[in-house]
Amino acid sequence: MAENKKLSMEKIVNLCKSRGFVYPGSEIYGGFANTWDFGPVGVELKNNVKRSWWKRFVQESPSTYGVDAAILMNPRVWEASGHVQSFGDPKMDCKNCKQRFRADTLIEAHSKGSVAAEAMTDAEMENYIAEHDVKCPHCGVRNWTPIRKFNPMFITSRGTLEEGSDKVYLRPETCQGEYVNFLNVQRTARAKVPFAIAQVGKSFRNEITPGNFLFRTVEFEQMELQMFCKESEAMQIYADYKAKAQKYVEDLGLKAENLRFHDHDKLAHYAKAACDIQYNFPMGWQELNGIHHRGTWDLSRHQEFSGKSMLYVDPFTNEKFIPNVIEYSIGADRLTLALLCAAYEEQALEGGDVRTVMHFHPAIAPYKVAILPLQKNLGEKAKEVYAKLSKKFMCDYDETGSIGKRYRRQDEIGTPFCVTVDFDTLEDGAVTVRDRDSMQQIRLKIDEVIPYVEKFLEFN
Ligand code: ATP
Repeated sequence: MAENKKLSMEKIVNLCKSRGFVYPGSEIYGGFANTWDFGPVGVELKNNVKRSWWKRFVQESPSTYGVDAAILMNPRVWEASGHVQSFGDPKMDCKNCKQRFRADTLIEAHSKGSVAAEAMTDAEMENYIAEHDVKCPHCGVRNWTPIRKFNPMFITSRGTLEEGSDKVYLRPETCQGEYVNFLNVQRTARAKVPFAIAQVGKSFRNEITPGNFLFRTVEFEQMELQMFCKESEAMQIYADYKAKAQKYVEDLGLKAENLRFHDHDKLAHYAKAACDIQYNFPMGWQELNGIHHRGTWDLSRHQEFSGKSMLYVDPFTNEKFIPNVIEYSIGADRLTLALLCAAYEEQALEGGDVRTVMHFHPAIAPYKVAILPLQKNLGEKAKEVYAKLSKKFMCDYDETGSIGKRYRRQDEIGTPFCVTVDFDTLEDGAVTVRDRDSMQQIRLKIDEVIPYVEKFLEFN
């Protein structure tokens, strides 16, 4: 497996582009910063990642219900969430660790409340921070951007006339789709706490410091769930999700030594606990996913702003309460990037040759099987095999170039099995199955290939 220290992001970006995982967005127009298009191989990989998450956290998790909520939501939602209110906040980014802070909060914390930063102009705050050497509370370095009134949301408008049209936001997080459907799902699924609502979908953020390929983009997909529960059980559920989140990414192929928990010291005023799982990306340890104990904040805010009661009535005790929320959220693109990094290996072969191989877990590999006729005139038989196997799995078919080169191409996109059709196949109905990682070959009857491959597609 790849050693992160040696792996550069450039290698991953180049492989992604040349092999059809990910291309720069709008490339023929010179690109469009921090947007990326998934190509034929990449879309399979990311879809498999999303499917694996849904299988683990919805299909195999009792009392978890999926939704697919609208991206455009009533603008009041973003007032309730606090996003609209924070538009005017004077924010500074730490250029070193990419964390963002309110300048007035930094000054108040530094002066232990003796300086009323709220009354200061932006220039006065910047001067204070420079003169008093106010450092980043997260990484301890002083390397600030200037103060900016940062708008984290993309704004569009609804209405066909420019004048008089209403401002609408592209959602910066998917979780609000679950909160606004808390009552709907609870009633229609007859759900009892603890239960969760899950969603996979696009989010959009006007990030000030996007970059590092798929790591931080302005448009990305989140896979997340909100577990609604009693206060007394919330901490245990929080701990359970930490463990489940870790097991999930390890099962997918991230090594334990490249994962660590980062518990947050500074919490939002409503939060009871928060942590990230960080992954050792080529650019260093960075957040992969978040797990948050959000108390009753989200449902209380929606109760306040919508005027709808968010009270849950316990069917056994008749107790009425607003449930606590445990949130688990992971970016599909960010996880895909981590899996690309983890899978990458340049392997030195005998004779000085180097093969690049992507060791994806077969469950997430873009293609499960590549069908390769040894010679072009075996194409008819090979296409028969393709027709059979492609009913079951995503398969590739390749008849161009030497067999060795074709194996290498499949190694580079992480296809776990290559099935070679040769002249003996016409006689004995058997094919050669080559394993990507060991490069060992076995001979199987065509009918045995599907059950053979299927065994590798499950997680332990
Ligand atoms: P970060 O600190 O990296 O900005 P965050 O704490 O703002 O992340 P959350 O709002 O908790 O992140 O979002 C949950 C997950 O969504 C993150 O752990 C990450 O995997 C993913 N994510 C968040 N922002 C982006 C982005 N701009 N690009 C890609 N993925 C993202």
